[in-house]
Amino acid sequence: MKQTGLHLIIKLQQLDDDLSLVLSEQKGLPEEITLLDEQVKSLLLQLDAREKRRDDTLAKKTQLRADILAAQEKIKKYKDTQTKARNNKEYDALSKQIEYEEQEIKKSESQIRSIEEAEEQIAQLEKKGKELLAENRYDEVTPDMVPTDILKKRLSEAQAEVKTKREELDSIIKSTQAEVDDLVSKVEKHRALFSGESRVILSKYDHLRKGGISNVVVKFSRSACSGCNTRVPASRHASIIQGNFYSCESCGRIVVHERLFEEVALVPSE
Ligand SMILES: [Zn+2]
Repeated sequence: MKQTGLHLIIKLQQLDDDLSLVLSEQKGLPEEITLLDEQVKSLLLQLDAREKRRDDTLAKKTQLRADILAAQEKIKKYKDTQTKARNNKEYDALSKQIEYEEQEIKKSESQIRSIEEAEEQIAQLEKKGKELLAENRYDEVTPDMVPTDILKKRLSEAQAEVKTKREELDSIIKSTQAEVDDLVSKVEKHRALFSGESRVILSKYDHLRKGGISNVVVKFSRSACSGCNTRVPASRHASIIQGNFYSCESCGRIVVHERLFEEVALVPSE
């Protein structure tokens, strides 16, 4: 029997199906791992942002408190000097400086209060978030409302899950790697057999397969395309019986006589 492009494409479909089957043992783990990785990344970013905010706030408060102390020191010194003032002019000049430092202290104190109020607001927001989460009212919880300890818990859970899934995937890959490699090389070798006109069928096959159709080549059965059960026009039956393909008008699949599938089965595998 002479192998036509159609025989080749049927065989290619079988090899591709075998490969998909082996890869399906990975049970969507690569996609799940990608999602979890993204989740971990986003949680780390959120936690980093909070830590930075906390550090910045603390540094600002520390600086303001140091400013207040320095101003108090100055005031003390001015007051000492004032007791030894030789005239009213000197005394008044020192009073102005004391007044200035007192104003600075008030400004710093007011800034500390603002910072503490902002911190209090954040704490209240997280407290509200905690209550809502306890009541399972997840929709009402904005990212800012999720308490830091819960973010940390989510992070370690996601990290543990991604670790488990990665180990599972690794072991599946390990146990199927030889089979996958073998099939990939068979597919490659087989694809090299397409030449001339048969390459047109190959590109049609690739196009449909990429579009998510796994059974691209189907049997002509009961005068219809067995992929979608649409009837094949009577004018095309003879051509199919002669061994040509029919491109289904409804689904685009390659419809061939079932005899071709039987013939492919008779070709010894390499
Ligand atoms: Zn069809």
